[in-house]
Amino acid sequence: MIEFEHVVKNFGEKEVLKDTSFSIQNGEIFTFIGPSGSGKTTILRLIDMLERPTSGAISIDGINVSTLKDRDRITIRRKMSMVFQKPSPLRGSVFDNVAIGLVFRNIGRDEIQARVPEALELVGLKGYEERKAGTLSGGEMQRVAIARAISTKPDILLLDEPTANLDPASTEKIENLISALKKRFEITVVLSTHDMVQGQRLADRIAVIIDGRIGQIGTSKEIFYHPMNRAVANMVGIENIFEGVVAKNEGGLASIEVNGISIVATTPLPAGTPVVLYMRPEDITFHVKDGVKSSARNEFTGTITKVLPMGPNARLKVNAGIKLTAVITQRSYEELDLALGKDIGLAFKASAIHVVEKTA
Ligand code: ADP
Ligand code: MG
Repeated sequence: MIEFEHVVKNFGEKEVLKDTSFSIQNGEIFTFIGPSGSGKTTILRLIDMLERPTSGAISIDGINVSTLKDRDRITIRRKMSMVFQKPSPLRGSVFDNVAIGLVFRNIGRDEIQARVPEALELVGLKGYEERKAGTLSGGEMQRVAIARAISTKPDILLLDEPTANLDPASTEKIENLISALKKRFEITVVLSTHDMVQGQRLADRIAVIIDGRIGQIGTSKEIFYHPMNRAVANMVGIENIFEGVVAKNEGGLASIEVNGISIVATTPLPAGTPVVLYMRPEDITFHVKDGVKSSARNEFTGTITKVLPMGPNARLKVNAGIKLTAVITQRSYEELDLALGKDIGLAFKASAIHVVEKTA
């Protein structure tokens, strides 16, 4: 288990990590999601003991490593392997590049001869030993870096933005590899990404980190559908955020006044409570105006004020008294004969709205 208790990290005057506490269980994939500069790499370097905290305590398997002597630090560091975001330019053969971590650990020659091909096979690069590392693609290079890390049989694998700068096919390979490694060896995987969708695909739990502070820790479902505050919601792509007041609540089905409009949502909060509402853009559905009624509790008519094509989807801004952002497939967009400036019926379920009490 990896534990941070009130960890602070300063670089010079700058407080880069602010009062950070979390614990990562053995055998889980734990992901830090945050924008660039939020402190992800700093956290991974602290776990890997490449940095010491300015204050607070870090413990690994119950041992407080922040105060350890150098000799004892090495023993614990050897349980871990880190793959850096920008692996240093590779020289020599693929074999040499994988072997280097083992050489550092004084592993014997025979053992190295056995472990390198084993690690390469695991990452899908069987038979690549003699290739010049400099001739590999970005995705292959990243897999060599992972092979180097796993050849040392770590208990904890640290991956700093393992798929940044990779094409979608290589990204998928790396993601599958990470899941497979976790399942096969029951290792703890700690990774960072600025890609929220990757976090959702891979992680058992996610910590959203914003400006050196953890905004929320939870499963992807908790984070993506029940954000605790606006900063987390923004980070995970929730684009519909409204403030309102609960007007009435009948057995958990509440009417909430937002900008003169009534929205039905499920919440136990009583009438009079100021609230913030969150809704994902993909939870809004469209239908022809005056068309068939849907089963959704919330039905409105709105005007399309902006259309932004996004691959197979389109992102729409719609003014329905409140300004909504929605995502619709290009196919539905055409079938419904939508266009900029057109009026359209739209609906969303009461359960699609996440209601949070507004704090001052
Ligand atoms: P991320 O990995 O999320 O992009 P980092 O952890 O690399 O963020 O950096 C967080 C902040 O700390 C940034 O503002 C960065 O400039 C600063 N920082 C990181 N390492 C150092 C360092 N060695 N010296 C000074 N500032 C640093
Ligand atoms: Mg980084």
